[in-house]
Amino acid sequence: MANTVHIRRVAVLGAGVMGAQIAAHLVNAGIETLLFDLPAKDGPANGIVLKALDNLKKLKPAPLMSASRAELIQPANYGSDLELLGSCDLVIEAIAERLDWKLDLYHKIAPHLAEHAILATNTSGLSIQSLADGVPAELQRRFCGIHFFNPPRYMYLVELIPLLKTDGALLDNLETFLVTRLGKGVVRAKDTPNFLANRIGVFSMLATIHHAEQFGIRFDVVDDLTGPRMGRPKSATFRTADVVGLDTFAHVVDTMTGKLAGDPWHPHYRVPGWLARLIEQGALGQKTKAGIYKKDGKTLLVLDAATGEYVEAGQKGSDEVKAILKIADPAERVRALRASPHPEARFLWACMRDVWHYVAVMLAEIADSARDVDFAIRWGFGWKQGPFELWQAAGWQAVADAIAEDIAAGRTMSATPLPGWVKGRDGVHTPEGSYSASRDQLVGRSALPVYQRQLYPPQLVGEAEPDYGETLFENDSVRMWLPPKSGGGNDVPVLSFTTKAHAVGANVLAGVQQAIRIAEEGWPGLVIWHPEAPFSVGADLASMGPAFMTGDFGAIENMVAEFQNTSMAIKYAKVPVVGAAQGYAFGGGCEFLMHCARVVAAVETYIGLVEVGVGLLPAGGGCKEFALRAAREARGGDILAVLKDYYMAMATAKVGTSAEEGQQIGYLKDSDVVLFNANELLYVAQAQVRALAATGYRPPVKPRAFPVAGRSGAATIKGQLVNMLEGGFISKYDYHIGVQIAEVVTGGDVEAGTLVNEEWILKLERERFMGLLKRGKTQERIMYMLENNKPLRN
Ligand code: NAD
Repeated sequence: MANTVHIRRVAVLGAGVMGAQIAAHLVNAGIETLLFDLPAKDGPANGIVLKALDNLKKLKPAPLMSASRAELIQPANYGSDLELLGSCDLVIEAIAERLDWKLDLYHKIAPHLAEHAILATNTSGLSIQSLADGVPAELQRRFCGIHFFNPPRYMYLVELIPLLKTDGALLDNLETFLVTRLGKGVVRAKDTPNFLANRIGVFSMLATIHHAEQFGIRFDVVDDLTGPRMGRPKSATFRTADVVGLDTFAHVVDTMTGKLAGDPWHPHYRVPGWLARLIEQGALGQKTKAGIYKKDGKTLLVLDAATGEYVEAGQKGSDEVKAILKIADPAERVRALRASPHPEARFLWACMRDVWHYVAVMLAEIADSARDVDFAIRWGFGWKQGPFELWQAAGWQAVADAIAEDIAAGRTMSATPLPGWVKGRDGVHTPEGSYSASRDQLVGRSALPVYQRQLYPPQLVGEAEPDYGETLFENDSVRMWLPPKSGGGNDVPVLSFTTKAHAVGANVLAGVQQAIRIAEEGWPGLVIWHPEAPFSVGADLASMGPAFMTGDFGAIENMVAEFQNTSMAIKYAKVPVVGAAQGYAFGGGCEFLMHCARVVAAVETYIGLVEVGVGLLPAGGGCKEFALRAAREARGGDILAVLKDYYMAMATAKVGTSAEEGQQIGYLKDSDVVLFNANELLYVAQAQVRALAATGYRPPVKPRAFPVAGRSGAATIKGQLVNMLEGGFISKYDYHIGVQIAEVVTGGDVEAGTLVNEEWILKLERERFMGLLKRGKTQERIMYMLENNKPLRN
């Protein structure tokens, strides 16, 4: 393909909030990145960028996957470095939101761009066409919008906004790059004000504000009702506004006020007085520590819009309305909301109704299809389901009739009728495709080859049910299955845990071992993958309960041994076992991965041996793997020097904040594969199995004997623990657990350099684990975790 541009080097123009974080995510993905800004008035010419890089290391949530990555961003300025642009394949402009400034800059950089380079703007509110009109004619086919959401590392959505003149192959190439290299969910949007997600998401917020006022619902109550209870993020409505920044929110609203004069909802595109006053006072939300919410000492306050005063926050929605929101059947739930006379219910119905009304009327103008709307809102605003999906799930016609009735009765925010296409259908998403109002037809998913890497892409209500293939074996905790044949052929079986949070109980252990036996009998290997995150929260503590209560410690000890047998079965299977991980991989989940022939981990994998948190130690082979690795890596030298960091990770229950950090800590190996798009995990894990099998896989040779750090090693570690105890960093009981772990990883009461085997350390793991389990403080920690889902430090 003549038009394929390999994107190896990227320049980001503007080291502000967005530019610096986009650059950070590019280097996270291993892309060579230059970050430009204006030359500084005093100090070093790159001063603005250097300051931004420094700030990146402090920002929360962390834009960089490890602070050291900041060094990989090359600082530059428009005064002396423009010729560096010639080596870039993609240039992303993210400077202040002013048409004239952006055009000036394009003018300045255009002569320096490579002939193949793509120029893309991250503008939120300016028309892409008005910007394209200002770039040289030749560059226009290489120009488009690329709208990242803040924070760019974590927000899945990127809107790609092409113009008529934009080269199609080049866009495909850019989309491929965004999806697979940067791990993003791309929605192609039209060049309409605020594009897709912000247009609808911010309308939804305006509708919520409008109805909260109309029905007299306090903002904290609104947030209690419009968060997770409605399938939306915890930050719900007003806290989201605080997090985004009230100025940014107002800016999006202003764009609608200014650019959508003819729109039937135009009278509602206004910044409410109370919000304008907050902005005037400099209360911009989280970044200024005051906004719709603020803290007074330890007390959380929320704005009362009617008086402009803050009141104590924390009021919840009424039980009656919360009970309606719990109704599982969406049709019944929506019906009940609409039927209820309770103001909170009427408020919620009104919010939903007006958003549905809005998306139906706007669909033709702002999106290619209803699928783009739903994904934009899911990925850009964190809703579990997009507005069209929710409508369809609640019964398309019944909801359409209810909306029409409310329009006729003058209850809706606009009197515009529903568009004709709404009538006489069951919904907008079907197995054949999603409805496009502008083309009046169903449109299928993108045929771009990059999406073939997503064997189970995100699904919408109404689409064909995913085909989870043929079952090879199952019990009540696992299912071993064969995905349906796809282009590449499918010969690699998958094992999925079916337990809650993929916790590991007795039947998972038995299931893993059974699946490995089946795989060894005639398959190239086995992938452990679940359709949903997390990989696993570790051992199922609750299942130990009964044995615990009856004091049947023998049963628990057997289970621990079984855990170890399972880890060893994974490691020494005759065929490669590849773990495909995303989200949490704690405790036993982490230990399984440590024993896999290879791990394919999504970049957002949080892995760690966290047993200390429940008063235990890693006894599924975690201590053993670290002892063995330390011996190997020391290569005959000082074992303790290598072991120390591994030990500390276990003793402090350290969790990697990304797969990369998991590798740095040592839970994952350098040979493990890190993926940016979690939807590609299964595809790549299967490819790894095939590659390992094709290159003559043999399990690792079992080490007959390896040296340990011995009692002197344990003594050194204990010395450090004493310092931590005396410094008040750990509790007395943490110290006790720390000693147990130290004695296990150093091989127990033996001379330094004593040769042991894996079984020796496994036995120590078991013994010390059981010793801890019998202690009251460990039992307290376990009970506390089960009840509160967080660790107790006693
Ligand atoms: P910002 O104010 O944090 O940073 C703007 C940067 O532009 C600064 O580093 C500044 O030095 C530079 N700059 C200012 N005037 C300039 C000029 N005349 N020439 C060259 N550089 C100049 O802004 P931001 O929030 O990062 O927004 C940047 C762009 O991204 C805007 O177009 C905005 O609409 C868009 N955007 C912002 C968000 C967000 O949440 N903040 C989200 C998506 C897109």
